[in-house]
Amino acid sequence: MPDFSHPHGAYCRADLHCHSTASDGRLSPRALLEQAAEAKVELLALTDHDTTAGLAEAALNARRLGIDFITGIELSVSWAGKTLHVVGLDIEPDNAPLQKILARLQALRLQRAQTIASKLHGLGLKNAFERARQAAGGGQITRTHFARLLVEDALVSDLKQAFKRHLGAGKPACVRIDWISLEEAIQAIHGAGGLAVLAHPLSYKFSGAWRQRMLQAFKQAGGDGLEVSCGANQQAHDLALLTEQALQHDLLASMGSDFHAPEQIWLGLGRLAPLSHRLTPVWQRFGAKASPA
Ligand code: AMP
Ligand code: MN
Ligand code: MN
Ligand code: MN
Repeated sequence: MPDFSHPHGAYCRADLHCHSTASDGRLSPRALLEQAAEAKVELLALTDHDTTAGLAEAALNARRLGIDFITGIELSVSWAGKTLHVVGLDIEPDNAPLQKILARLQALRLQRAQTIASKLHGLGLKNAFERARQAAGGGQITRTHFARLLVEDALVSDLKQAFKRHLGAGKPACVRIDWISLEEAIQAIHGAGGLAVLAHPLSYKFSGAWRQRMLQAFKQAGGDGLEVSCGANQQAHDLALLTEQALQHDLLASMGSDFHAPEQIWLGLGRLAPLSHRLTPVWQRFGAKASPA
């Protein structure tokens, strides 16, 4: 385990949120680490949706390439009728209660994929379940897989349109799911020795008042950190807003690109604005948690 007790800025290139073929990323864990090395990322966490399946291969390749690697996950959570994403960092992947929760989330994903596929059938996308399952290659099936099929069959022009017209919240092929609660997610992450970080806090389309409620609920449920620096195209005022909210709610600060695929050329691995020196970076707490009583 590297020494994480550095002052701020020890990692100029940290990226603590990205995906591999274990969920909806395009690159295998090995290829992802190779891309990270090329992008000169110094500290990387792999955070696939509801699965730890990519972590062993990622860790192996991180060692080979000299990248500090942190185990991670992105959990699907239901809160106030919306889906939130909670990233777990520095988790023990084999933790039994965590794996039990993942099995539940994975079963929900499989069921949902079948329902989404039948809805998309009506919209002209044939054989969608089998095709999505094949595309996922044993990894978690996500809405991204269906969005890619809609693009492939020229039913929409790009991924954005696929969500806007069919798969986004409230659209015809959207299926509402009760994922796990905020408390369950944070407890599972803590139980596995990790830190819980609220992912991309401005992507949930909440009003300012609801965002405050979400942050309060997250903190109250034991949440540790906020993703403050979120990708190459983040606006300066959003970075400033999240910096203030992390300070206000006494949350650690994380940074993550949410990288999925090299073809998203505007969203490179590790291409993130640095964290303000007023914040405490989440990596200062890696490897430093009290052992369970
Ligand atoms: P799921 O967890 O299966 O509901 O899928 C959520 C994933 O869909 C996210 O992690 C993103 O990768 C992707 N996604 C959601 N909204 C959009 C969008 N508007 N454009 C592109 N990808 C999106
Ligand atoms: Mn995704
Ligand atoms: Mn997410
Ligand atoms: Mn993500």
